[in-house]
Amino acid sequence: NISENRPIIRQLDDAAINRIAAGEVVERPASAVKELIENSIDAGATRIAIDIADGGKTLIRVTDDGYGIAAGDLSLALSRHATSKIDGSDLLNIHTFGFRGEALPSLGAVGRLTITSRVPGADAASIRVAGGKLEAVKPAALRAGTVVELRDLFFATPARLKFMRTDRAEAQAISDTVKRLAMAEPAVTFTLRDVSGGGEGRVTFRADRENGDLFDALHARLARVIGREFAENALQIDATREGIRLYGYAALPTYSRGAAVTQYLFVNGRPVRDKMLTGALRAAYFDFLSRDRHPAAALFIDCDPTLVDVNVHPAKSEVRFRDPGIARGLIVSSLRHALAEAGHRASSTVSN
Ligand code: ADP
Ligand code: MG
Repeated sequence: NISENRPIIRQLDDAAINRIAAGEVVERPASAVKELIENSIDAGATRIAIDIADGGKTLIRVTDDGYGIAAGDLSLALSRHATSKIDGSDLLNIHTFGFRGEALPSLGAVGRLTITSRVPGADAASIRVAGGKLEAVKPAALRAGTVVELRDLFFATPARLKFMRTDRAEAQAISDTVKRLAMAEPAVTFTLRDVSGGGEGRVTFRADRENGDLFDALHARLARVIGREFAENALQIDATREGIRLYGYAALPTYSRGAAVTQYLFVNGRPVRDKMLTGALRAAYFDFLSRDRHPAAALFIDCDPTLVDVNVHPAKSEVRFRDPGIARGLIVSSLRHALAEAGHRASSTVSN
């Protein structure tokens, strides 16, 4: 009798729900680092320190000087779909990195998570959750800001743990993530430290507080993150069309590297990987670069949040423009224009 074998429908408990959600939000240590840094930026941090060990598999610690979490809110911060960033009434108008309220509960479901935080005028407190099991809030010592420590990522999901690459590869992915976010936030100082193996690896991207100019600060940050050679061979781009602004730096065709892809694209400060945008970049360089070479650029598209949907995937690295044609056209025409002008300048210098 087939009906005897029919499984019953049951409501999953929170720990199971969070583990399932974690599969989408936290693919690897670098995704955890991304979520934690984004939280620090959303909290108005000016300094963010990231410590990792063993490619982030055993330890990821993000320390910031942001506005903190009140002791009474710590357990709420760890519950699913709890966020201070939206009220749910306007999903089209998002100005923060986060809004889904999923990262912390997901991380707490698949690893051992401790959050220590302090808001001005109150004592610091901390909370721990491991494999979805929440402990009570405790008093803690911390001067200001927030420290989120994630140990043993995926200990609670052994299947996912098996998919981790080598420590080296995971550390590399973390470094790439930190670099991308550092490019988008030149006013924030980032320090990435590998504390495994005697704490050798350490890199700092220091914010120049004196420097108020957007392009100066961005140029300095790109020189530090991508390299001086890129910065010295890059054209400044700044163009606006129909409420969409494109700015940043695009390398001269002579700089471009053969195989190494050095393309960094951001939409409203969010690092994105987007076929339409990279296609536009390729199209812009089409007449200037041989087919086997990739254009190098760090470009920022800023527009009203209502013109672009960031809620395409939990990791939020995909976006959908309401009118992709405007963004594409803006990239193609302004880069072509800048490249052609640079070409004219170069050829007139030669003929003079
Ligand atoms: P989301 O970022 O989508 O709101 P998270 O799960 O990442 O969801 O974080 C939940 C909440 O915890 C945030 O809305 C925020 O209020 C608080 N929070 C997380 N990290 C920090 C931090 N570093 N500083 C201050 N508040 C934080
Ligand atoms: Mg978040």
